[in-house]
Amino acid sequence: MKAYIKTFGCQMNVHDSERIADILSRHGYEITDAPRGAEVLIINSCTVREKAWHKAISEAGRLGVRKRDRDDLTIVFAGCAAQQEGDKVFKLIPAVDLVLGPDHYGQLPSLIERVRECKSQLSRVGFDEGRPGDFLSLEPQGKRTGTSAFVTVMKGCSERCTYCIVPFVRGPMRFRPDDDVVREVESLAQNGVREVTLLGQTVNAYNYEGASFADLLARLDRVPGLERVRFTSPHPGYMTKELIESFGHLETLCESIHLPVQSGSSRMLRRMGRRYTAEHFREVVEKLRSSRPDILISTDIIVGFSGETQEDFEQTLGLIEDARFSGVFSFKYSQRPGTPATKWRDDVPEEEKKRRLAALHTVIDRIVDELRAELVGKVLDVLVEGPGRNPGQLTGRARNGQIVNFPVPPGMTLGSALGKLIDVEVVQLLPHSLEGSAILPVRAR
Ligand code: SF4
Repeated sequence: MKAYIKTFGCQMNVHDSERIADILSRHGYEITDAPRGAEVLIINSCTVREKAWHKAISEAGRLGVRKRDRDDLTIVFAGCAAQQEGDKVFKLIPAVDLVLGPDHYGQLPSLIERVRECKSQLSRVGFDEGRPGDFLSLEPQGKRTGTSAFVTVMKGCSERCTYCIVPFVRGPMRFRPDDDVVREVESLAQNGVREVTLLGQTVNAYNYEGASFADLLARLDRVPGLERVRFTSPHPGYMTKELIESFGHLETLCESIHLPVQSGSSRMLRRMGRRYTAEHFREVVEKLRSSRPDILISTDIIVGFSGETQEDFEQTLGLIEDARFSGVFSFKYSQRPGTPATKWRDDVPEEEKKRRLAALHTVIDRIVDELRAELVGKVLDVLVEGPGRNPGQLTGRARNGQIVNFPVPPGMTLGSALGKLIDVEVVQLLPHSLEGSAILPVRAR
């Protein structure tokens, strides 16, 4: 049978979709990238932001229309929104056959079989607390190749940020044994993967039977063939001294970090339940820069959270100026049903949220341009990921996270360059990437 998977939301959901694809492939499914011709249509939904939830539900409705002409279709609504809404999804989109929370992906093939046989709707939500084996059963088993890969080290979240639904839909944090993580990374490296990104909602809270996140990074640093390690998403409250110092001495740990701050006002951070102050965040940034002076730090900001005054917002702008973020994912606050913050009024008018977002973008764009301009003339170590934006070009990512396009060096082809590390001098800035030129003679590693 063929299955089509449509993913909404964050990197973690993208990786979950890879795991769903892996599980289905092991059961004989062919994964296709178009719904036409597929018998099983899967929507991997997100509920963190209102927009993602609306998109997922309207995609389910759109795919559901196909059932009018085909009675062999099975529609699966999976992911965080499935976990949160449960059977209510059937009322919203009656064409959905199976509602599946993230802790039940391992049972997906048998559940699809069941709904197809019984021709009835079914939902499986709830957490696998106390049954860590379920977590491991989702570990990708198929041969994974390519230059980079995601590796899950934990799941769930035990924080209580007042605007966030994740702890309610993903459950409390649970960690994978460090030996299993190392084994998976070793196997990836043996298959040619050179860069891994460790995934978890509060990834740096990792602590498996006394092995901290910094300990895990130190073990991965010794994996033969592995060149680079990144991780997402860390929480500022778990940026320990050991972890910060790791940036200074672990060769594989890349000099970039996405560290969500959300607001530059300690008053707002307290209201958001973030468990750190703006001052603490500033200290973390300072220590990261002393540990690794060339580190690029990006962040997430919410504007217009309930109760945010102009003064709070100005403190956020001040933090952005001082921290010199290399990128910011910014969002206008919108209330998510089921989150603690719904007890407060969403009291910043929409027009004001838009104004603050635009003001924030003006500051960010200027800083990002300044930081990028400093890279011109520098030599970056680029891991080639594929063909570039123009014919005859390659594209890849530098250790600091920047995307670099450059002409295929003399004597090389796309095939021979793929997965290699090449020194590239940055020659100019493009809107969302850098353009460079390989240092000759090429030293491809
Ligand atoms: S740390 Fe906060 S924002 Fe992040 S997933 Fe947990 S509750 Fe949500």
